[in-house]
Amino acid sequence: MIEDLDSADIVVIGAGPAGCTAAEHAALRGAEVLVVERKEEIGIPVACGEFLPSIDEIKSIFPRAVDVDLLFDIPADLVSLKTDRLRLYSPGLRLFEISLVGYTTDRDRFDKHLASKAEKAGARIITGCSFVSVEDEGVITSLGKVRAKVVIGADGPMSRVASSLGLPANKSLYPAVTARAKGDFEPIPEMYFGNVAPGGYAWIIPKRGGANVGAGVSPRFAKGRISDYLKRFVERKGLDIDRPVGKFVPMSGPVAKTTSKRGLIVGDAAGHVMAVNGGGIPIAIICGRLAGETAAGNVTKGRPLEMYERLWRDQVEKPLRTAVRTEALASLFFGSQWRLGAAMRALGRRRMGRIIRCKPVLP
Ligand SMILES: Cc1cc2nc3c(=O)[nH]c(=O)nc-3n(C[C@H](O)[C@H](O)[C@H](O)COP(=O)(O)OP(=O)(O)OC[C@H]3O[C@@H](n4cnc5c(N)ncnc54)[C@H](O)[C@@H]3O)c2cc1C
Repeated sequence: MIEDLDSADIVVIGAGPAGCTAAEHAALRGAEVLVVERKEEIGIPVACGEFLPSIDEIKSIFPRAVDVDLLFDIPADLVSLKTDRLRLYSPGLRLFEISLVGYTTDRDRFDKHLASKAEKAGARIITGCSFVSVEDEGVITSLGKVRAKVVIGADGPMSRVASSLGLPANKSLYPAVTARAKGDFEPIPEMYFGNVAPGGYAWIIPKRGGANVGAGVSPRFAKGRISDYLKRFVERKGLDIDRPVGKFVPMSGPVAKTTSKRGLIVGDAAGHVMAVNGGGIPIAIICGRLAGETAAGNVTKGRPLEMYERLWRDQVEKPLRTAVRTEALASLFFGSQWRLGAAMRALGRRRMGRIIRCKPVLP
């Protein structure tokens, strides 16, 4: 049994950005919250490019999101390196430089920061404990039963909570792998398209004292293991990396339903990822807040959990759907290096800048 922790108003599964933000805001609204995280240490190992757009960029991508300044008020010591543009390379290494303001972070410290905010708000977090299933009065974990009125599934791309609540799973999962390289890098993130990472891209995202290097591929176009793609990319760039860590990125957009009678899902579990670039941290935080507040409203005031569905769809769904459509269009070109290069040339810098911000190709 989980000593003294076997009951809460709300149990949150997963202490990533979605779960910690949900826990913080549910606790701030007066709910008793317990977060269950299967990792021994929050944020470790890091499986992330560690790049975040600036507050203004987040507002431009998600113009209907509210309280963005408040949600993304990140302490300066969590900013590893500020960047103001991106370099996109076509299969033939033609360069397209687009403006995009952002920064890199240390994802392990970033997640720990969100967890400490949740704890300050009053949530309790237990690590080294895995969710097993939802049952009548709560959830079963590897350490015992937790009684709870509402379950928030923030357990990542292959959400066990989603299936246990009878909610849809992510349809399309792209394998991605990342590692850290030491050395001096220009403070400009780079994305490489084409055979280097079929249907996805390889990246070098500079950080203080090094870079995050990785690759993500589409299972439809890739012809080998993701680790081999990264290995070849790293060799080609002459980089020296530490041990790569892999994970999946949900690329089919938001799932059709995110609430059930017993709970709700958020973040990667709900497909809250930008299909044009694989970024999900901003949406996990925006929707995490909405999930936490709705769950607290349910347990303290009897408000329906379905409100969450309407709230997050209103704030972020349109750009996420646009990104899915653009990605589907792009997949027509991924099969041929030549066609992809020609498409990038035809699009040019300005339109690619729109695409990466989840806007329609044409204004
Ligand atoms: C290689 C890679 C690079 C990426 N780069 C970027 C980037 O640069 N910028 C960006 O914005 N996004 C990036 N993303 C996406 C981003 O990491 C995710 O969208 C984001 O982490 C989603 O947050 P989350 O809280 O929903 O899920 P997660 O961060 O995955 O957190 C889920 C948590 O749930 C826990 N968990 C899972 N199952 C259980 C269980 N059964 N019981 C208990 N706990 C459980 C996990 O251990 C984990 O801590 C990248 C993804 C990958 C794979």
